[in-house]
Amino acid sequence: MIIIMLGAPGTGKGTVAGILKDELGIPQISTGDIFRKHIKEQTELGKLADSYISKGQLVPDDVTIKLVQSRIQEDDVKPGMILDGFPRTVAQAEALDKMLSEQGKKVDLVVNLTTPKDEIIERIVNRRVCSNQECKAVYNLVMNPPKKEGICDKCGSPLVQRKDDTEETVNERFESYLKNTAPLVEYYENKGILRKEEVSKSINRLGKDVAEDIVKIFKK
Ligand code: AMP
Repeated sequence: MIIIMLGAPGTGKGTVAGILKDELGIPQISTGDIFRKHIKEQTELGKLADSYISKGQLVPDDVTIKLVQSRIQEDDVKPGMILDGFPRTVAQAEALDKMLSEQGKKVDLVVNLTTPKDEIIERIVNRRVCSNQECKAVYNLVMNPPKKEGICDKCGSPLVQRKDDTEETVNERFESYLKNTAPLVEYYENKGILRKEEVSKSINRLGKDVAEDIVKIFKK
């Protein structure tokens, strides 16, 4: 089972993917998380990725595709995976189709999350993430604050704000989404595997509601 999470920054791709990972028992592959790990460890890839991520730009396709290509060869991915933040360009989507078809696999479902832009900005600037790479729990200072300020409820590690979660960088990331990633909606719609989901407090539908409905499809 291969699921792709699509959507602008701050729509809750990671939240939905995290619930699906736990409920369906397949790994969540977040290219953003992999890049952040490299940045923290100051690897060559990390330094390169940081020079794009800190400006709100996409890491070049060749680098990102190579990274995913090697990750999806690993054993844990055999039963399936949730791709969170990849693909983000048509070139990445085409490369993914090619990689999967070489393994006799294909994408089963693409979930496209949409959220009004003002809500996205509010969510992103209030987002705090657990600094423990094994935990990676996500909080919102307004909607879902931790019980103890600055501390993760789940593992007790300090919470941090992502460097690219500033209003300025968010605008840049949003522009990049419209230019590079939005065309993927049509790409997957044409393949008949796109599921559109609006996530917004104004309609009382949150990421966890979306995840619950998707789990039901796969657990039937
Ligand atoms: P995310 O955690 O998914 O919001 O990703 C954080 C940042 O990592 C993005 O704003 C991009 O700069 C970079 N990134 C993550 N995934 C990709 C991708 N598939 N292609 C290019 N850049 C990516």
